[in-house]
Amino acid sequence: MKKGIAASKGYAIGHVFVKTTNEVKITETKIDDIDAEKARLKNAVESSRKQLTAIKEKAEKEIGADKAAVFESHIMLLDDPEFTGAMETGVETNSVNAEKAVSDVIDMYAAIFEGMEDEYMKERGADVKDVGKRVIANLSGNADGGMENLEENTVIVAHDLTPSDTAQLDKTKVIGFLTNIGGRTSHSAIMARTLEIPAVVGLNDITESVKNGDFIIVDGAEGFAIINPDEATVKEYTEKKKKYEEEKEELKKLINHETVTKAGKRVEVCGNIGKAKDVDTVLANGGDGVGLFRTEFLYMDRDSMPTEDEQFEAYKYVTEKMGKKPVVIRTLDIGGDKKLPYLPLPEEMNPFLGFRAIRLCLGRKDIFKVQLRALLRASVFGNLKIMFPMISSIGEFLEAKEVLKECMGELKAEGKAYNEKIDTGIMVEIPAAAVMADELAKHVDFFSIGTNDLIQYTIAADRMNENVSYLYNPMHPAVLRLIKMTIEAAHKEGKWCGMCGEMAGDEKAIPTLVEYGLDEFSMSASSILNAKKYIMNN
Ligand code: PEP
Ligand code: MG
Repeated sequence: MKKGIAASKGYAIGHVFVKTTNEVKITETKIDDIDAEKARLKNAVESSRKQLTAIKEKAEKEIGADKAAVFESHIMLLDDPEFTGAMETGVETNSVNAEKAVSDVIDMYAAIFEGMEDEYMKERGADVKDVGKRVIANLSGNADGGMENLEENTVIVAHDLTPSDTAQLDKTKVIGFLTNIGGRTSHSAIMARTLEIPAVVGLNDITESVKNGDFIIVDGAEGFAIINPDEATVKEYTEKKKKYEEEKEELKKLINHETVTKAGKRVEVCGNIGKAKDVDTVLANGGDGVGLFRTEFLYMDRDSMPTEDEQFEAYKYVTEKMGKKPVVIRTLDIGGDKKLPYLPLPEEMNPFLGFRAIRLCLGRKDIFKVQLRALLRASVFGNLKIMFPMISSIGEFLEAKEVLKECMGELKAEGKAYNEKIDTGIMVEIPAAAVMADELAKHVDFFSIGTNDLIQYTIAADRMNENVSYLYNPMHPAVLRLIKMTIEAAHKEGKWCGMCGEMAGDEKAIPTLVEYGLDEFSMSASSILNAKKYIMNN
Protein backbone atom coordinates (compact mmCIF):
# COMPACT_ATOMS: atom_id res chain seq x y z
CA MET A 1 0.00 0.00 0.00
CA LYS A 2 1.31 3.48 -0.84
CA LYS A 3 0.18 6.68 0.84
CA GLY A 4 -0.12 9.95 -1.03
CA ILE A 5 -2.32 13.04 -1.01
CA ALA A 6 -6.04 12.48 -1.59
CA ALA A 7 -6.77 14.71 -4.58
CA SER A 8 -10.18 13.60 -5.80
CA LYS A 9 -12.73 11.47 -3.91
CA GLY A 10 -13.99 8.08 -5.01
CA TYR A 11 -12.60 4.57 -5.63
CA ALA A 12 -11.15 2.95 -8.74
CA ILE A 13 -10.26 -0.72 -9.21
CA GLY A 14 -8.49 -1.49 -12.45
CA HIS A 15 -5.29 -2.05 -14.40
CA VAL A 16 -2.22 0.12 -14.49
CA PHE A 17 -1.04 1.97 -17.51
CA VAL A 18 2.28 3.67 -16.82
CA LYS A 19 2.62 6.82 -18.82
CA THR A 20 6.34 7.02 -19.44
CA THR A 21 6.59 8.97 -22.64
CA ASN A 22 6.70 12.28 -20.80
CA GLU A 23 10.21 11.47 -19.67
CA VAL A 24 11.88 12.14 -23.02
CA LYS A 25 15.64 11.70 -22.93
CA ILE A 26 17.31 14.59 -24.69
CA THR A 27 20.57 13.90 -26.44
CA GLU A 28 22.60 16.69 -27.96
CA THR A 29 23.67 16.33 -31.57
CA LYS A 30 25.56 18.77 -33.75
CA ILE A 31 23.65 20.03 -36.78
CA ASP A 32 25.09 21.06 -40.15
CA ASP A 33 21.94 22.20 -41.90
CA ILE A 34 20.75 24.93 -39.53
CA ASP A 35 17.89 26.09 -41.78
CA ALA A 36 16.44 22.58 -42.05
CA GLU A 37 16.61 22.18 -38.26
CA LYS A 38 14.88 25.54 -37.75
CA ALA A 39 12.13 24.45 -40.16
CA ARG A 40 11.73 21.20 -38.21
CA LEU A 41 11.37 23.23 -35.02
CA LYS A 42 8.83 25.53 -36.66
CA ASN A 43 6.75 22.52 -37.76
CA ALA A 44 6.79 21.05 -34.27
CA VAL A 45 5.69 24.36 -32.76
CA GLU A 46 2.90 24.59 -35.34
CA SER A 47 1.71 21.03 -34.65
CA SER A 48 1.78 21.74 -30.92
CA ARG A 49 -0.33 24.84 -31.42
CA LYS A 50 -2.90 22.88 -33.46
CA GLN A 51 -3.09 20.11 -30.85
CA LEU A 52 -3.47 22.61 -28.03
CA THR A 53 -6.25 24.43 -29.85
CA ALA A 54 -8.12 21.14 -30.27
CA ILE A 55 -7.57 20.24 -26.60
CA LYS A 56 -8.75 23.67 -25.53
CA GLU A 57 -11.96 23.35 -27.55
CA LYS A 58 -12.64 19.89 -26.10
CA ALA A 59 -11.91 21.11 -22.58
CA GLU A 60 -14.18 24.14 -22.98
CA LYS A 61 -17.07 21.84 -23.83
CA GLU A 62 -16.35 19.30 -21.12
CA ILE A 63 -15.01 21.18 -18.14
CA GLY A 64 -15.86 24.83 -18.79
CA ALA A 65 -14.11 27.84 -20.26
CA ASP A 66 -12.41 28.95 -17.06
CA LYS A 67 -10.60 25.64 -16.54
CA ALA A 68 -9.77 25.43 -20.24
CA ALA A 69 -8.09 28.82 -20.00
CA VAL A 70 -4.84 27.12 -19.02
CA PHE A 71 -4.53 25.87 -22.62
CA GLU A 72 -4.99 29.39 -23.89
CA SER A 73 -1.97 30.36 -21.79
CA HIS A 74 -0.02 27.45 -23.33
CA ILE A 75 -0.95 28.65 -26.81
CA MET A 76 0.08 32.17 -25.84
CA LEU A 77 3.49 30.88 -24.79
CA LEU A 78 3.94 29.34 -28.24
CA ASP A 79 2.82 32.63 -29.80
CA ASP A 80 5.39 34.57 -27.81
CA PRO A 81 8.21 35.39 -30.26
CA GLU A 82 10.67 35.75 -27.39
CA PHE A 83 9.96 32.20 -26.22
CA THR A 84 10.13 30.44 -29.59
CA GLY A 85 12.77 32.89 -30.82
CA ALA A 86 15.08 31.77 -27.99
CA MET A 87 14.74 28.19 -29.25
CA GLU A 88 15.65 29.16 -32.80
CA THR A 89 18.60 31.17 -31.51
CA GLY A 90 19.71 28.09 -29.59
CA VAL A 91 19.76 26.00 -32.78
CA GLU A 92 21.56 28.76 -34.68
CA THR A 93 24.23 29.83 -32.22
CA ASN A 94 25.08 26.41 -30.80
CA SER A 95 24.45 24.38 -34.00
CA VAL A 96 22.50 21.88 -31.90
CA ASN A 97 19.43 19.78 -32.62
CA ALA A 98 16.04 21.38 -31.99
CA GLU A 99 15.27 19.00 -29.08
CA LYS A 100 18.32 20.27 -27.17
CA ALA A 101 17.55 23.92 -27.97
CA VAL A 102 13.92 23.54 -26.81
CA SER A 103 14.98 21.71 -23.66
CA ASP A 104 17.50 24.46 -22.75
CA VAL A 105 14.92 27.23 -23.14
CA ILE A 106 12.34 25.29 -21.13
CA ASP A 107 14.84 24.64 -18.33
CA MET A 108 15.70 28.32 -18.20
CA TYR A 109 12.07 29.54 -18.13
CA ALA A 110 10.94 26.84 -15.68
CA ALA A 111 13.83 27.67 -13.32
CA ILE A 112 12.78 31.33 -13.27
CA PHE A 113 9.16 30.45 -12.36
CA GLU A 114 10.09 27.74 -9.91
CA GLY A 115 12.50 30.07 -8.13
CA MET A 116 9.67 32.44 -7.29
CA GLU A 117 8.35 32.57 -3.73
CA ASP A 118 4.72 32.61 -4.72
CA GLU A 119 3.10 29.13 -4.91
CA TYR A 120 0.94 30.16 -7.83
CA MET A 121 3.86 31.45 -9.90
CA LYS A 122 5.88 28.36 -9.00
CA GLU A 123 3.17 26.25 -10.61
CA ARG A 124 3.49 28.23 -13.85
CA GLY A 125 6.85 26.44 -14.21
CA ALA A 126 4.83 23.26 -14.77
CA ASP A 127 2.97 24.95 -17.62
CA VAL A 128 6.22 25.88 -19.34
CA LYS A 129 7.44 22.29 -19.01
CA ASP A 130 4.15 20.99 -20.33
CA VAL A 131 4.44 23.11 -23.48
CA GLY A 132 8.11 22.13 -23.89
CA LYS A 133 7.38 18.40 -23.62
CA ARG A 134 4.73 18.72 -26.29
CA VAL A 135 7.09 20.48 -28.71
CA ILE A 136 9.80 17.88 -28.07
CA ALA A 137 7.30 15.04 -28.49
CA ASN A 138 6.27 16.55 -31.81
CA LEU A 139 9.90 16.75 -32.88
CA SER A 140 10.18 13.02 -32.28
CA GLY A 141 6.80 12.38 -33.91
CA ASN A 142 5.22 11.08 -30.68
CA ALA A 143 2.89 13.63 -29.18
CA ASP A 144 0.07 11.43 -27.94
CA GLY A 145 1.85 10.32 -24.78
CA GLY A 146 1.00 6.70 -25.56
CA MET A 147 -2.52 7.15 -24.27
CA GLU A 148 -4.40 6.72 -27.53
CA ASN A 149 -5.21 3.00 -27.23
CA LEU A 150 -6.21 2.60 -23.63
CA GLU A 151 -8.38 -0.26 -22.48
CA GLU A 152 -11.38 0.07 -20.24
CA ASN A 153 -10.83 0.24 -16.47
CA THR A 154 -7.43 1.88 -16.78
CA VAL A 155 -5.67 3.61 -13.91
CA ILE A 156 -3.10 6.01 -15.29
CA VAL A 157 0.16 6.11 -13.34
CA ALA A 158 2.48 8.98 -14.21
CA HIS A 159 5.27 11.05 -12.77
CA ASP A 160 2.96 14.00 -13.22
CA LEU A 161 -0.10 14.57 -15.35
CA THR A 162 -0.10 17.86 -17.14
CA PRO A 163 -3.32 19.85 -17.52
CA SER A 164 -3.47 18.83 -21.18
CA ASP A 165 -3.08 15.13 -20.26
CA THR A 166 -5.84 15.42 -17.69
CA ALA A 167 -8.25 17.25 -19.97
CA GLN A 168 -7.76 14.59 -22.66
CA LEU A 169 -8.47 11.66 -20.36
CA ASP A 170 -11.20 9.53 -21.88
CA LYS A 171 -13.63 8.95 -19.02
CA THR A 172 -15.00 5.80 -20.64
CA LYS A 173 -11.55 4.20 -20.27
CA VAL A 174 -9.75 6.00 -17.46
CA ILE A 175 -11.21 5.37 -14.02
CA GLY A 176 -8.50 6.93 -11.85
CA PHE A 177 -4.99 8.31 -11.75
CA LEU A 178 -1.93 8.30 -9.55
CA THR A 179 1.08 10.59 -9.76
CA ASN A 180 4.49 10.88 -8.12
CA ILE A 181 4.28 14.62 -7.58
CA GLY A 182 1.64 17.33 -7.06
CA GLY A 183 -0.55 18.68 -4.29
CA ARG A 184 -4.23 19.24 -3.72
CA THR A 185 -4.11 22.58 -5.51
CA SER A 186 -2.08 21.53 -8.54
CA HIS A 187 -3.90 21.83 -11.85
CA SER A 188 -4.23 18.08 -12.33
CA ALA A 189 -5.88 17.67 -8.90
CA ILE A 190 -8.33 20.49 -9.61
CA MET A 191 -9.20 18.96 -12.98
CA ALA A 192 -9.64 15.50 -11.44
CA ARG A 193 -12.20 16.90 -9.02
CA THR A 194 -14.01 18.72 -11.83
CA LEU A 195 -14.10 15.53 -13.90
CA GLU A 196 -14.94 13.49 -10.79
CA ILE A 197 -12.15 10.99 -11.46
CA PRO A 198 -10.68 9.47 -8.24
CA ALA A 199 -7.05 10.50 -7.89
CA VAL A 200 -4.11 10.37 -5.50
CA VAL A 201 -1.11 12.63 -6.06
CA GLY A 202 2.26 13.09 -4.36
CA LEU A 203 2.98 9.33 -4.15
CA ASN A 204 6.74 9.95 -4.67
CA ASP A 205 7.77 6.85 -6.63
CA ILE A 206 4.56 5.17 -7.74
CA THR A 207 5.89 4.98 -11.33
CA GLU A 208 8.78 2.83 -10.04
CA SER A 209 6.53 0.61 -7.94
CA VAL A 210 4.17 -0.63 -10.67
CA LYS A 211 4.29 -1.94 -14.21
CA ASN A 212 1.77 -2.03 -17.02
CA GLY A 213 -1.07 -4.45 -16.37
CA ASP A 214 -0.65 -4.54 -12.58
CA PHE A 215 -3.93 -4.70 -10.74
CA ILE A 216 -4.46 -1.64 -8.55
CA ILE A 217 -6.91 0.11 -6.25
CA VAL A 218 -7.15 3.90 -6.00
CA ASP A 219 -8.59 5.18 -2.75
CA GLY A 220 -9.21 8.84 -3.53
CA ALA A 221 -10.88 9.43 -0.18
CA GLU A 222 -7.96 8.43 2.06
CA GLY A 223 -5.16 8.96 -0.49
CA PHE A 224 -3.98 5.34 -0.92
CA ALA A 225 -2.88 3.17 -3.82
CA ILE A 226 -2.97 -0.58 -3.22
CA ILE A 227 -0.84 -2.53 -5.69
CA ASN A 228 -1.86 -6.09 -6.65
CA PRO A 229 -4.27 -6.40 -3.71
CA ASP A 230 -5.35 -9.77 -2.38
CA GLU A 231 -8.83 -11.08 -2.94
CA ALA A 232 -10.18 -9.92 0.40
CA THR A 233 -9.02 -6.33 -0.22
CA VAL A 234 -10.56 -6.29 -3.69
CA LYS A 235 -13.81 -7.49 -2.16
CA GLU A 236 -13.62 -4.83 0.55
CA TYR A 237 -13.04 -2.04 -2.00
CA THR A 238 -15.66 -3.32 -4.41
CA GLU A 239 -18.11 -2.93 -1.53
CA LYS A 240 -16.76 0.53 -0.64
CA LYS A 241 -17.03 1.68 -4.25
CA LYS A 242 -20.57 0.36 -4.57
CA LYS A 243 -21.57 2.06 -1.33
CA TYR A 244 -19.93 5.34 -2.35
CA GLU A 245 -21.75 5.36 -5.69
CA GLU A 246 -25.06 4.46 -4.11
CA GLU A 247 -24.65 7.24 -1.57
CA LYS A 248 -23.80 9.72 -4.31
CA GLU A 249 -26.89 8.72 -6.25
CA GLU A 250 -29.03 8.81 -3.12
CA LEU A 251 -27.79 12.32 -2.28
CA LYS A 252 -29.08 13.62 -5.61
CA LYS A 253 -32.59 13.33 -4.21
CA LEU A 254 -31.73 16.27 -1.98
CA ILE A 255 -30.98 18.67 -4.84
CA ASN A 256 -34.30 20.48 -4.71
CA HIS A 257 -34.93 19.73 -1.09
CA GLU A 258 -35.19 22.47 1.53
CA THR A 259 -32.70 21.96 4.33
CA VAL A 260 -34.55 21.83 7.64
CA THR A 261 -32.94 20.73 10.90
CA LYS A 262 -34.59 18.24 13.27
CA ALA A 263 -35.66 21.21 15.40
CA GLY A 264 -37.48 22.64 12.38
CA LYS A 265 -35.08 25.47 11.50
CA ARG A 266 -34.65 26.15 7.77
CA VAL A 267 -30.99 26.78 6.89
CA GLU A 268 -29.26 27.69 3.66
CA VAL A 269 -26.57 25.49 2.16
CA CYS A 270 -24.53 27.49 -0.33
CA GLY A 271 -21.45 27.11 -2.49
CA ASN A 272 -18.04 28.77 -2.42
CA ILE A 273 -16.74 29.83 -5.81
CA GLY A 274 -13.48 31.21 -7.21
CA LYS A 275 -14.49 31.93 -10.80
CA ALA A 276 -17.81 33.13 -12.22
CA LYS A 277 -18.38 29.89 -14.14
CA ASP A 278 -18.21 27.81 -10.91
CA VAL A 279 -21.73 29.01 -10.19
CA ASP A 280 -23.07 26.36 -12.59
CA THR A 281 -21.79 23.56 -10.34
CA VAL A 282 -23.31 25.24 -7.30
CA LEU A 283 -26.71 25.20 -9.03
CA ALA A 284 -26.23 21.63 -10.27
CA ASN A 285 -25.64 20.55 -6.67
CA GLY A 286 -28.73 22.31 -5.38
CA GLY A 287 -26.95 25.23 -3.68
CA ASP A 288 -29.25 27.80 -2.06
CA GLY A 289 -26.90 30.59 -3.03
CA VAL A 290 -23.25 31.60 -3.21
CA GLY A 291 -21.92 32.08 0.31
CA LEU A 292 -18.44 33.14 -0.74
CA PHE A 293 -17.08 34.36 -4.05
CA ARG A 294 -13.30 34.53 -3.58
CA THR A 295 -12.80 37.40 -6.02
CA GLU A 296 -9.01 37.37 -5.78
CA PHE A 297 -9.05 34.58 -8.39
CA LEU A 298 -10.26 37.14 -10.93
CA TYR A 299 -7.03 39.03 -10.29
CA MET A 300 -4.75 35.99 -10.70
CA ASP A 301 -3.54 34.25 -13.84
CA ARG A 302 -3.03 37.54 -15.65
CA ASP A 303 -0.53 40.36 -15.82
CA SER A 304 -2.63 43.40 -14.92
CA MET A 305 -5.59 44.31 -12.71
CA PRO A 306 -9.01 43.31 -14.08
CA THR A 307 -10.86 46.43 -15.21
CA GLU A 308 -14.14 47.63 -13.71
CA ASP A 309 -16.01 46.33 -16.75
CA GLU A 310 -14.35 42.90 -16.64
CA GLN A 311 -15.25 42.57 -12.97
CA PHE A 312 -18.76 43.87 -13.57
CA GLU A 313 -19.32 41.15 -16.20
CA ALA A 314 -18.17 38.40 -13.80
CA TYR A 315 -20.31 39.62 -10.88
CA LYS A 316 -23.31 40.18 -13.15
CA TYR A 317 -22.98 36.66 -14.59
CA VAL A 318 -23.05 35.04 -11.15
CA THR A 319 -25.80 37.27 -9.79
CA GLU A 320 -28.06 36.81 -12.82
CA LYS A 321 -27.50 33.05 -12.88
CA MET A 322 -28.51 32.74 -9.23
CA GLY A 323 -31.76 34.68 -9.79
CA LYS A 324 -33.34 35.46 -6.44
CA LYS A 325 -30.78 33.39 -4.52
CA PRO A 326 -28.22 35.32 -2.46
CA VAL A 327 -24.71 35.89 -3.80
CA VAL A 328 -22.16 36.98 -1.21
CA ILE A 329 -19.17 38.50 -2.95
CA ARG A 330 -16.06 39.01 -0.88
CA THR A 331 -13.85 41.95 -1.75
CA LEU A 332 -10.25 41.33 -2.70
CA ASP A 333 -8.40 39.13 -0.19
CA ILE A 334 -4.88 39.39 -1.54
CA GLY A 335 -1.68 39.31 0.52
CA GLY A 336 -0.70 36.54 2.95
CA ASP A 337 -0.07 33.49 0.79
CA LYS A 338 -1.86 34.99 -2.23
CA LYS A 339 0.23 37.41 -4.25
CA LEU A 340 -0.24 39.14 -7.58
CA PRO A 341 2.73 39.25 -9.95
CA TYR A 342 1.85 42.80 -11.05
CA LEU A 343 1.32 44.18 -7.55
CA PRO A 344 4.69 44.21 -5.82
CA LEU A 345 4.38 44.28 -2.05
CA PRO A 346 7.18 44.43 0.50
CA GLU A 347 8.42 41.11 1.92
CA GLU A 348 6.88 40.49 5.33
CA MET A 349 8.05 38.49 8.35
CA ASN A 350 4.50 37.26 9.00
CA PRO A 351 2.46 37.60 5.82
CA PHE A 352 -0.69 36.18 7.43
CA LEU A 353 -0.51 38.96 10.02
CA GLY A 354 0.49 41.52 7.45
CA PHE A 355 -0.78 43.90 4.83
CA ARG A 356 -3.55 41.76 3.35
CA ALA A 357 -7.24 41.79 2.43
CA ILE A 358 -9.16 44.83 3.77
CA ARG A 359 -5.95 46.35 5.12
CA LEU A 360 -4.49 46.44 1.64
CA CYS A 361 -7.75 47.67 0.11
CA LEU A 362 -8.07 50.53 2.58
CA GLY A 363 -4.43 51.40 1.91
CA ARG A 364 -4.95 51.22 -1.87
CA LYS A 365 -8.35 52.81 -2.38
CA ASP A 366 -7.61 53.19 -6.09
CA ILE A 367 -7.73 49.38 -6.40
CA PHE A 368 -10.60 48.98 -3.93
CA LYS A 369 -12.89 51.49 -5.64
CA VAL A 370 -12.67 49.77 -9.02
CA GLN A 371 -14.01 46.60 -7.43
CA LEU A 372 -16.70 48.32 -5.36
CA ARG A 373 -17.99 50.20 -8.41
CA ALA A 374 -18.19 46.94 -10.37
CA LEU A 375 -20.03 45.25 -7.48
CA LEU A 376 -22.51 48.09 -7.13
CA ARG A 377 -23.25 48.12 -10.85
CA ALA A 378 -23.86 44.35 -10.79
CA SER A 379 -26.09 44.62 -7.72
CA VAL A 380 -29.17 45.53 -9.79
CA PHE A 381 -29.15 42.10 -11.47
CA GLY A 382 -30.09 40.00 -8.45
CA ASN A 383 -29.48 39.45 -4.77
CA LEU A 384 -25.84 40.57 -4.42
CA LYS A 385 -24.29 41.22 -1.01
CA ILE A 386 -20.84 42.64 -0.32
CA MET A 387 -18.56 41.07 2.29
CA PHE A 388 -15.32 42.54 3.64
CA PRO A 389 -12.55 40.12 4.68
CA MET A 390 -10.18 40.28 7.67
CA ILE A 391 -12.13 42.87 9.64
CA SER A 392 -10.58 43.32 13.10
CA SER A 393 -12.39 46.44 14.32
CA ILE A 394 -15.55 48.48 13.85
CA GLY A 395 -13.45 51.34 12.49
CA GLU A 396 -12.26 49.25 9.54
CA PHE A 397 -15.80 48.24 8.62
CA LEU A 398 -17.03 51.83 8.82
CA GLU A 399 -14.12 53.02 6.70
CA ALA A 400 -14.88 50.39 4.07
CA LYS A 401 -18.51 51.51 4.06
CA GLU A 402 -17.36 55.12 3.60
CA VAL A 403 -15.48 54.11 0.45
CA LEU A 404 -18.57 52.26 -0.73
CA LYS A 405 -20.66 55.40 -0.16
CA GLU A 406 -18.15 57.43 -2.16
CA CYS A 407 -18.52 54.96 -5.06
CA MET A 408 -22.32 55.20 -4.81
CA GLY A 409 -22.02 58.98 -5.09
CA GLU A 410 -19.86 58.69 -8.20
CA LEU A 411 -22.20 56.21 -9.88
CA LYS A 412 -25.20 58.38 -9.10
CA ALA A 413 -23.48 61.40 -10.69
CA GLU A 414 -22.70 59.27 -13.74
CA GLY A 415 -26.33 58.12 -13.97
CA LYS A 416 -25.41 54.46 -13.40
CA ALA A 417 -27.82 52.17 -11.57
CA TYR A 418 -27.02 50.32 -8.34
CA ASN A 419 -28.88 48.90 -5.34
CA GLU A 420 -28.90 51.67 -2.74
CA LYS A 421 -29.94 49.21 -0.05
CA ILE A 422 -27.23 46.65 -0.77
CA ASP A 423 -26.40 44.41 2.20
CA THR A 424 -22.89 44.62 3.58
CA GLY A 425 -21.33 42.15 5.96
CA ILE A 426 -18.00 40.96 7.24
CA MET A 427 -16.01 37.79 7.52
CA VAL A 428 -15.44 36.91 11.14
CA GLU A 429 -12.03 35.30 10.82
CA ILE A 430 -9.93 37.26 13.29
CA PRO A 431 -10.56 36.45 16.97
CA ALA A 432 -10.87 40.20 17.72
CA ALA A 433 -13.93 40.35 15.46
CA ALA A 434 -15.52 37.37 17.19
CA VAL A 435 -14.87 38.87 20.61
CA MET A 436 -16.38 42.19 19.47
CA ALA A 437 -19.22 40.52 17.55
CA ASP A 438 -21.89 42.06 19.81
CA GLU A 439 -20.73 45.56 18.80
CA LEU A 440 -20.05 44.73 15.16
CA ALA A 441 -23.50 43.15 14.82
CA LYS A 442 -25.07 46.57 15.34
CA HIS A 443 -23.42 47.83 12.14
CA VAL A 444 -23.37 44.93 9.70
CA ASP A 445 -26.17 43.18 7.81
CA PHE A 446 -24.61 39.73 8.29
CA PHE A 447 -21.60 37.77 9.47
CA SER A 448 -19.86 34.89 7.74
CA ILE A 449 -17.41 32.99 9.91
CA GLY A 450 -14.14 32.25 8.11
CA THR A 451 -12.94 29.29 10.13
CA ASN A 452 -9.93 28.56 7.91
CA ASP A 453 -8.30 31.69 9.29
CA LEU A 454 -10.18 31.93 12.59
CA ILE A 455 -8.75 28.56 13.70
CA GLN A 456 -5.18 29.44 12.76
CA TYR A 457 -5.32 32.81 14.54
CA THR A 458 -7.07 31.46 17.66
CA ILE A 459 -4.71 28.55 18.20
CA ALA A 460 -1.67 30.29 16.65
CA ALA A 461 -1.19 27.32 14.33
CA ASP A 462 -0.31 28.15 10.72
CA ARG A 463 -2.93 26.61 8.41
CA MET A 464 -0.23 25.77 5.83
CA ASN A 465 2.30 24.15 8.16
CA GLU A 466 1.95 20.34 8.38
CA ASN A 467 4.17 20.25 11.50
CA VAL A 468 1.55 22.08 13.54
CA SER A 469 -1.45 20.57 11.81
CA TYR A 470 -2.09 18.41 14.90
CA LEU A 471 -3.00 21.66 16.70
CA TYR A 472 -5.22 22.98 13.93
CA ASN A 473 -8.48 21.65 15.32
CA PRO A 474 -11.90 23.07 14.38
CA MET A 475 -13.39 21.50 17.51
CA HIS A 476 -10.96 23.23 19.89
CA PRO A 477 -13.18 24.61 22.70
CA ALA A 478 -11.76 28.13 22.19
CA VAL A 479 -12.76 28.08 18.53
CA LEU A 480 -16.20 26.74 19.37
CA ARG A 481 -16.74 29.46 21.96
CA LEU A 482 -15.88 32.18 19.45
CA ILE A 483 -18.26 30.66 16.89
CA LYS A 484 -21.08 30.43 19.42
CA MET A 485 -20.50 34.03 20.55
CA THR A 486 -20.58 35.28 16.98
CA ILE A 487 -23.83 33.50 16.08
CA GLU A 488 -25.53 34.66 19.27
CA ALA A 489 -24.36 38.24 18.78
CA ALA A 490 -25.76 38.30 15.24
CA HIS A 491 -29.12 36.89 16.35
CA LYS A 492 -29.39 39.37 19.22
CA GLU A 493 -29.33 42.18 16.65
CA GLY A 494 -31.70 40.35 14.27
CA LYS A 495 -28.92 39.62 11.76
CA TRP A 496 -28.03 36.30 10.12
CA CYS A 497 -24.78 34.43 10.56
CA GLY A 498 -23.17 32.09 8.05
CA MET A 499 -19.94 30.14 7.80
CA CYS A 500 -17.79 29.88 4.68
CA GLY A 501 -14.68 28.15 6.06
CA GLU A 502 -14.09 24.43 5.39
CA MET A 503 -15.62 23.62 8.78
CA ALA A 504 -19.12 24.37 7.39
CA GLY A 505 -19.00 21.15 5.34
CA ASP A 506 -17.29 19.06 8.03
CA GLU A 507 -19.51 16.15 9.06
CA LYS A 508 -18.00 16.14 12.55
CA ALA A 509 -18.70 19.83 13.12
CA ILE A 510 -22.19 20.07 11.60
CA PRO A 511 -24.12 18.81 14.67
CA THR A 512 -22.50 21.50 16.85
CA LEU A 513 -23.06 24.23 14.27
CA VAL A 514 -26.72 23.24 13.97
CA GLU A 515 -27.02 23.31 17.75
CA TYR A 516 -25.51 26.83 17.84
CA GLY A 517 -28.12 28.00 15.33
CA LEU A 518 -25.92 28.77 12.31
CA ASP A 519 -28.16 30.14 9.54
CA GLU A 520 -26.08 29.53 6.44
CA PHE A 521 -23.42 26.90 5.58
CA SER A 522 -21.20 27.59 2.57
CA MET A 523 -18.71 25.13 1.08
CA SER A 524 -17.27 23.71 -2.13
CA ALA A 525 -20.09 22.68 -4.46
CA SER A 526 -19.29 18.97 -4.36
CA SER A 527 -19.84 18.90 -0.55
CA ILE A 528 -23.28 20.60 -0.59
CA LEU A 529 -25.47 17.51 -0.83
CA ASN A 530 -23.58 15.57 1.82
CA ALA A 531 -23.77 18.57 4.19
CA LYS A 532 -27.52 18.89 3.54
CA LYS A 533 -27.94 15.29 4.65
CA TYR A 534 -25.98 15.82 7.87
CA ILE A 535 -27.78 19.06 8.69
CA MET A 536 -31.17 17.42 8.23
CA ASN A 537 -30.16 14.59 10.57
CA ASN A 538 -29.30 17.02 13.36
C1 PEP B 1 -11.62 31.46 5.76
O1 PEP B 1 -10.62 32.04 6.19
O2 PEP B 1 -12.27 30.64 6.42
C2 PEP B 1 -12.07 31.68 4.38
C3 PEP B 1 -13.20 31.17 3.95
O3 PEP B 1 -11.30 32.41 3.57
P1 PEP B 1 -9.95 31.91 2.85
O4 PEP B 1 -9.90 30.42 2.96
O5 PEP B 1 -10.07 32.40 1.45
O6 PEP B 1 -8.90 32.60 3.65
MG1 MG C 1 -9.79 33.78 5.23
